[in-house]
Amino acid sequence: MKRPTVVVLGAGYGGLSVVTKLQKLVNPDDMDIILVNKNDYHYETTWLHEASAGTMHHDKVRYDIDGVINKGKVNFVKATVENIDTKAQKVITDRSEIAYDYLVVGLGFEGETFGIPGLKEHAFSIANIKAARQIRDHIEYQFSTYSLEETKDPSRLTIVVGGAGFTGIEFLGELADRVPELCEEYDIDPKAVRVLCVEAAPMVLPGFDKELVDYAVSYLESKGIEFSIGTPVVEATPEGVKIKKGEDTFEEIKAQTVVWAAGVRGNPIIEKAGFENMRARIKVDADLRAPGHNNVFIVGDCALMINPENDRPYPPTAQIAMQQGAHTAHNLVALAKGDELEPFSPDLKGTVCSLGEKEAIGEVFGRKITGKQAAFMKKVIDNRALYIIGGPGLVFKKGKLNVL
Ligand code: FAD
Ligand code: NAD
Repeated sequence: MKRPTVVVLGAGYGGLSVVTKLQKLVNPDDMDIILVNKNDYHYETTWLHEASAGTMHHDKVRYDIDGVINKGKVNFVKATVENIDTKAQKVITDRSEIAYDYLVVGLGFEGETFGIPGLKEHAFSIANIKAARQIRDHIEYQFSTYSLEETKDPSRLTIVVGGAGFTGIEFLGELADRVPELCEEYDIDPKAVRVLCVEAAPMVLPGFDKELVDYAVSYLESKGIEFSIGTPVVEATPEGVKIKKGEDTFEEIKAQTVVWAAGVRGNPIIEKAGFENMRARIKVDADLRAPGHNNVFIVGDCALMINPENDRPYPPTAQIAMQQGAHTAHNLVALAKGDELEPFSPDLKGTVCSLGEKEAIGEVFGRKITGKQAAFMKKVIDNRALYIIGGPGLVFKKGKLNVL
């Protein structure tokens, strides 16, 4: 019998977890495994706020895919996926078409703009390495230009962060560390800098523990960060943003840097390929297959799963993406053998939100943690992700070893 071809799209947390687990479970004769990714590197999406603020170099955030795959078992193809033809069972990329027997889609997320005018054109999104590098350079350029100008333009030193979810808050934490460094480097009075977070909901980190949220807000405020709460961004312009302050009251904030961190949607390929979807995410079956597609699995941020405890979608996280990836590897082996597939259920260990290098808040195994203890835990979690994919070697190479 012909051995099946498994094609995995995306070398993020989900896709790379599938491949690195699968290569441990199968022999080269069992199946052909093809991994497709647009870059020849994987990046730690969960560290992109650090690269964006400039508190960590972007090279530290990425590593070569070749270094973590077994080339005797996995064929890596560097290509950009352009579409999926589920009827013909093939993936269309910018380089070639790739036929599959089983497909795993792990193409990640895009920033959600909710159709708000001007955001796509005038705001940055912490989306990938290239975007992070551009945000870092843009902010630094504003500081250097301000220092040079005769007539000082305060909007150069105004940074607006749209959204006080986990991404927004983690980025603000990095800015709290980075802005004093930039001020020193460019001889700028820190009082001239304004970092403002604009949140639509009535609270920061909506739905998270209030005591921990209060801790985060008072820490960030002590570092000079301002919050405008319950005031949605309604437009972005070349000059900044417009926010809604009341029924018919709006305020325009002049800012040369607007970073949009107000939620995510799945990869647009999901919509293009014609899968039934909600904001480019597929509501998957219990075994993570796309409904009506018995040979297509979805992992990570392209998958939508409902938490039966509250009837709401699980938030898209790396934690879940990695668990889905490992689970799917086992199910692919089962499928190839003709065995029953196992349903997936996430094992949620908690959430830790960093506030720069030395501060954080979190709830881990039901316990609330703050400060240095939480910052330590965040680094342990970050290193654990490296360990699961690439073992101790990758932790030594890329890990956050300054954990204390
Ligand atoms: P990703 O890890 O984003 O990977 C997608 C991959 O697909 C990438 O390699 C990309 O290059 C590739 N790709 C995309 N399009 C194409 C294409 N057309 N062709 C080929 N390749 C393509 N979650 C947590 O659990 N804990 C955290 O602390 C945390 N922190 C975060 C911090 C930030 C700043 C952000 C933005 C998110 C954070 N998250 C965190 C969420 C987490 O990063 C995502 O849920 C996770 O990355 C999803 O994994 P994924 O495999 O679906 O996608
Ligand atoms: P999110 O959906 O968690 O938060 C987005 C925030 O933007 C919300 O508070 C929302 O009210 C706000 N918002 C929406 N529209 C707005 C508007 N018009 N104006 C102002 N504010 C607006 O999205 P995220 O923070 O990008 O996170 C994406 C996913 O990644 C989530 O699942 C999150 O849990 C995960 N994540 C986890 C961590 C962590 O565990 N440390 C860190 C970052 C991201």
